[in-house]
Amino acid sequence: MHIGLDDTDSTRKGCTTYVAALLVEKLEKLNVTFLDYPNLIRLNPNVPWKTRGNGALCLRIKHTSGLEDKIKETAISLVEEHSDLAFKGTDPGIVFFQNVEVPEDIKVFAKNAIMGIVTLKEAMRLIKKFGGEALGFKNCRGIIGALAAVGETLEGDHTFELIAYRLPENCGLKRKVDEASIFEMDELTRPYTFNNVDTEKGRVIITPRGPDPILFGVRGETPEIVKKAFGLVKPLESVDRWLVFRTNQGTDAHLKRVAALNQIEQYNSVVVKGVVSRNPRIIPLRHVIFSIKDETGEVDCAAYEPTGALRKVARDLIVDDSVEVYGAVRKPAGKPLTINLEKINVLALAPKFVFQNPVCEKCGKRLKSMGKGKGFRCEKCGTRFGDARKVQTAVERELKAGLYVTSTRSQRHLTKPLRRYGLEKHGAEAEGMIENWQFP
Ligand SMILES: [Zn+2]
Repeated sequence: MHIGLDDTDSTRKGCTTYVAALLVEKLEKLNVTFLDYPNLIRLNPNVPWKTRGNGALCLRIKHTSGLEDKIKETAISLVEEHSDLAFKGTDPGIVFFQNVEVPEDIKVFAKNAIMGIVTLKEAMRLIKKFGGEALGFKNCRGIIGALAAVGETLEGDHTFELIAYRLPENCGLKRKVDEASIFEMDELTRPYTFNNVDTEKGRVIITPRGPDPILFGVRGETPEIVKKAFGLVKPLESVDRWLVFRTNQGTDAHLKRVAALNQIEQYNSVVVKGVVSRNPRIIPLRHVIFSIKDETGEVDCAAYEPTGALRKVARDLIVDDSVEVYGAVRKPAGKPLTINLEKINVLALAPKFVFQNPVCEKCGKRLKSMGKGKGFRCEKCGTRFGDARKVQTAVERELKAGLYVTSTRSQRHLTKPLRRYGLEKHGAEAEGMIENWQFP
C-alpha cells in the first residue's frame, strides 16, 4: 500500500513530516513491512497558494491481508488529530493506493506537480482510473500533493534527511542546539551532508524558525551519513523522536529546461540560455536586475539581496555576456516576466572596454580634455593635441565563467547546492562511490 499525505500544517503549527513519523510508529506496531524510507517529496515551490515548504509525504508498506481497514483508519485519525484544520489554507489530503507498481500516469502527474501546476480534477481522475482512494478535508487541495507523493518514486537522483523532533511542550520556544557542534558536524561530514550552515553569514540553517515541531534536520547523500551527522550534533533540549526520509531535496527536480525565452511560463522554475541585453541595474533594497534575450524574446532576471554572492555576479555582468539562468518565473504587476535567480551559469564573457584620454607623445603623461571636440592638452609640458581622440582599452573582467549558486540561506528545498555536484545518483557507479566512502 502507498499512503500519501499532504497539507496538514499551517504557519502557526504542525508539520506533515511529523504526522508521517507518528504514522510510521503506529504502523510498526501493526507489524507492517516498510518497502522504503518514508518519502518526503517537495513540490513546485512557486505554487501561489502555498507559502511554506510545499512538502508531501508517502509511506510505502507491505501488510498482511485484513489489515487494510485498520491501516486506513489509523492514518485518517492521525491526520484529523494533528492537522491545523481551523486554519484557512490548510486543506489536508490522504491518498491510499493498493498497488505493487505505481502507474506510469501517476508518475507523470508527480513530475508535473513538482515542475508546474496540476489540478485537483486531474488528481481525482487518476485516483478513480487506477482504483485508489482519496480523503480530503475542507477544499481537499491536499489530495493533489498526496497523490504526487505517491507518484514520485525517486528512481533518479535523491537525497536523505534525518529530522529530529522536539517535545510537544517545547514547540514555539526558542530551539536549543549547540551551534558549534553543527559547524563541527559540517566539517566532519562534508561533502556528504549539505545545507548545514550558511558560510557567508556564519549562521546555522538546520534549525527552522517557525513554531513547527522540528528541532533540526540534517540533509545528506545516504541514510548512514545523516545518522552519523545526527550523532555529532549536540541538542541542548530533549529530542522527542527522529526519522530518516528519502527525498528529492537538493536535486533541482523543480527546474524545467526550456529551449527558448518565449517558452517560459509563470509559476514554473526554468533553466534557459540567453545573452545579456541590458546592463544590470541596482534597485532599492539592493536588488540587481538585468535582462537577457534570444531570437524569441527578452526577460528580466532578478537577484535579490539574500542571494548573496549571486547578486554580486549579477552586478558584474555586461551586455553581450552569454549566460544560462536558473530560477522561478514571476510576473510582477506592470513589469515583464522576471526570473528570480537561483543560479547563473556564466557561459562566455563579452570583452569590456574603457575609453581613456590619450597620453602625451613627449612626456608620456595622460592628457587633459579641453572640452568636447576641442582636443587635449598636456598639463606637464603644455603641448596641445587638437585632433587626438580617446583611446579604447580592453580591461580584464573580474567575473569568471562558471556556475554560481544562490547563498545557502536563500536556497529552495529543491535547489541542488554546489556541494552536491558530482554526487548525483544516476546509477550503480554513484551509489558505489558513496558506499565505499569511510567515515573519518
Ligand atoms: Zn607632455
